[in-house]
Amino acid sequence: MTSPAPRVVILATGGTIAGAAASATDNVGYRAGQVGVEQLIAAVPALSAHRLEAEQVAQVDSSDMGETVWRALVARCEHHLQRADVQGLVITHGTDTLEETAWLLQRMLAPAKPVVLTAAMRPATSLAADGPQNLLDAVTVAQVQGAHGVVACVAGRVLSATDVQKVHSYRTDAFDAPDASPVARVVEGRVTVLRPWPQSDRASWPEGRAWPWVEIVTSHALARRDGIDAWVATGVQGLVVAGTGNGTVHEALRGALVDAEHRGVAIALASRCAAGPVLAGHRAGWRVYPGLNAVKSRVELGLELLGSAPQR
Ligand code: ASP
Repeated sequence: MTSPAPRVVILATGGTIAGAAASATDNVGYRAGQVGVEQLIAAVPALSAHRLEAEQVAQVDSSDMGETVWRALVARCEHHLQRADVQGLVITHGTDTLEETAWLLQRMLAPAKPVVLTAAMRPATSLAADGPQNLLDAVTVAQVQGAHGVVACVAGRVLSATDVQKVHSYRTDAFDAPDASPVARVVEGRVTVLRPWPQSDRASWPEGRAWPWVEIVTSHALARRDGIDAWVATGVQGLVVAGTGNGTVHEALRGALVDAEHRGVAIALASRCAAGPVLAGHRAGWRVYPGLNAVKSRVELGLELLGSAPQR
């Protein structure tokens, strides 16, 4: 008796990959999160050769991503990853906040199996939709022997949760890992693994704890401290500074950040550059999460605050 082939579970959350427009030539004037997961799968006949299960976890435009969907997604991933008959997960997601969800999932799950996020820049109704190929590739990657961790698979490249960034607002090849190489490539259904799969420690988000309030402050010419002061006055718990260059921060902001810290606000420093490290000389004792951009540092600081004593 042969055992059944391993199963891939597709968890759908919405996004442009599930978007619909009134016309096949309209790649911009669509509504994200309209097409159900069964329909997305049906649009890719080659997926019938795979042993799949599908679940509609949410149906949102990921630019509106919120705590409820994140919670539900983490819970459904945890559920399916525990199943012995599941080899890997695929998550269909909007492109806008894919990198934040990727990092959240990597830290919440630190999965020993692959969790592959995929997305599209054109709606499902498009004349030349990019979603079907991305979905097929992602399902293929989720079955690679030895694969683990959270990755994104878009336009034939597999990028780790640490590195993946949306770098283009329109083209179908919208993601990159600006300071790293891809984990793998997918060409005509063949996956070539190029470097180790992602790994991290596992964080927790205790039941009943709201996600901490963390904001991002960008340092720039003519910066003013008023915004920081207003956030601190209204109870912000953490601030991530997207510094200039290798982590420099405008003098007008530095004093406000020191004052915020004295009032118990956690400060982390990232760079507003798309690539490159924050260098030690500019840290001023603030947290730096190496390799993470400002939006992922924001997730990381939230997790750090969740792991510490209840916040004010
Ligand atoms: N706004 C869309 C979303 O993030 C964009 C996309 O998926 O490409 O859901």
